[in-house]
Amino acid sequence: MVSMNKIFSSVFSSVLLLGVFLIMQGCGDSKAPAEKEIIHTVTGPIGIEELGFTLTHEHAMSNFGLDISEAHQYDETELFSQVIPYLKKVKSLGVDTIFDCTSPYFGRRVDLLQQMADLTGLQIITNTGIYGAADNRYVPEYAFEASAVELASMWTKEFDEGIDGTDIKPGFVKLAFNEGTPSEIEKTLFEAGVLTHLQTGLTLAVHTGNNPEAVETQLRILEEHGVSPEAWVWVHAHWDADIDLLIETALKGAWISLDGANEGNIEEFLEYLERFRSENLLHRVLLSHDGDAYPAGGEIRPFDAIPKYLIPAMRERGFTDSEIDQIMIENPKKAFMPRIRRSE
Ligand SMILES: [Zn+2]
Repeated sequence: MVSMNKIFSSVFSSVLLLGVFLIMQGCGDSKAPAEKEIIHTVTGPIGIEELGFTLTHEHAMSNFGLDISEAHQYDETELFSQVIPYLKKVKSLGVDTIFDCTSPYFGRRVDLLQQMADLTGLQIITNTGIYGAADNRYVPEYAFEASAVELASMWTKEFDEGIDGTDIKPGFVKLAFNEGTPSEIEKTLFEAGVLTHLQTGLTLAVHTGNNPEAVETQLRILEEHGVSPEAWVWVHAHWDADIDLLIETALKGAWISLDGANEGNIEEFLEYLERFRSENLLHRVLLSHDGDAYPAGGEIRPFDAIPKYLIPAMRERGFTDSEIDQIMIENPKKAFMPRIRRSE
């Protein structure tokens, strides 16, 4: 009897364990769709809902201006003593997340960004890609020889495996166009971005500025690959004097990034926002500063004007809380939620 009891209890506990296992599996399955809606920050993946109040184009630091061979190096003591208090200050103004737009060859250092996020509690999202503006000075030699497919596989590898030997993954693709007619390398880099999007679902944030020809080229390449303009952010769109072109492009589904807000241009930004509101296009707008807490060791280029000045001014001009939340919270989630966006 004793041995029968033992057998019975061991069978019973196995069944019990199996039951618990199946229940846990069941829970896992029921959570699966929500769990997929994540974005990678430098301290790991978060649910897209956790982005909160988000600035989609800033720089925690950069070495823009330095030679490509030394742009990855920082005096870390000096860097942290300048950046950490500033990021804490930005966070205290209600900012939850920044998208760090410093590209690999002018100063992206994901290990340092990770420490900054740890020390400040600010969520930081980094990028993959190559910055093709500034007369190609931050395009490495190998990129001129590489095909779009080869470049896309390097960027996709950063998404799959991590950046620079870490397990830190990018949350978007950052690219850039010079002024004037897009060159071969700019087109190749952009095509590589589109191919990366098709493999990873990452959004393309592209420094474009006042360059209608580059806008046209990018929309054409997206179309050739069957990718919706919704996968693309027109970065520095406020450099464009032609607001009608911004509206027209937003109507195609593109994201319009008005990312140069500062204390001195609040009125100009209000005019853009009022026009987008009158066209029912606030759901296509991203707002940021293009600030830099450490521009190659120089003085901080602030990224606090939106919470400090622009939002209070928007309220005075009749923007509702839900319109403000749409721009600062909802739009960043929709724009950057990794998912493949095919054109219909
Ligand atoms: Zn920038």
